[in-house]
Amino acid sequence: MPEGWQFPDVTIYLVGILGLLVVWQYYQMQIMAGRILAVDIFDRSGIRMYLYVTPDDDHICEVCAASNGRVYLPSQVAKKNFSPLDGRCQRPTPCIGVLIGLYGAWLEARGVLENLRRNIKNGGIQLSAEEVRALVNGQWERCISADTDRLGIQMIEALSYEKINQEIAIQGYRYVVEEAREVRHLLLLVPAYLRLLQLLLRAGEEAEALETIERFEIRFPSTKRGAHFPSEKQRETVRTKKAQLLKGLPLKISA
Ligand SMILES: [Zn+2]
Repeated sequence: MPEGWQFPDVTIYLVGILGLLVVWQYYQMQIMAGRILAVDIFDRSGIRMYLYVTPDDDHICEVCAASNGRVYLPSQVAKKNFSPLDGRCQRPTPCIGVLIGLYGAWLEARGVLENLRRNIKNGGIQLSAEEVRALVNGQWERCISADTDRLGIQMIEALSYEKINQEIAIQGYRYVVEEAREVRHLLLLVPAYLRLLQLLLRAGEEAEALETIERFEIRFPSTKRGAHFPSEKQRETVRTKKAQLLKGLPLKISA
């Protein structure tokens, strides 16, 4: 380097930032591929509340169904041994239930958040099934948190419309399966795949069901493990359904 020639200070900062980006990207890729057993892959940035939602389905056990619609602050979810359930799930293959993080800047969500903060000392709040639907039927798309919340809202909508409007539910799960790319969305992926599969089979959409199973197998190779990967029982359920579909046997439709 010629004498007297120096890198401007800003270059050093930029190199530093670039280095961090590379490390972060690498870490994200490792989590996505299931190579890191992330103890906690919740990304709490931009999340102001969490909503626990179970599918609107008769096969959900009493313990899980009793927690549907509970709302939490990120500080509660961050506590060790946090669980939205009051006891253990009563089914051998645990029910699907999802904790969905929201920024929630639209009117209905702001109301829920204010109510939660007011009642946090009384044990928090729980929304009824109608209130959960009213929340996602609000004008969320017109407000600043639309991009942050879009995927979570699609998931809530899908879960809470399974019985009322199967087509809306299928569309919501399809969206999640196709668009979940950020680390904070990974925990929604397996539930979305499993519920989508269930609804497609119920609707007699066997070709798309088989295609969904194949995408699931590629997305979650059985040789890999990760915090957001399917459990062995969930894999077994999918394998059984695939075998039945391939043989053209009538499918037993259950959760
Ligand atoms: Zn359960």
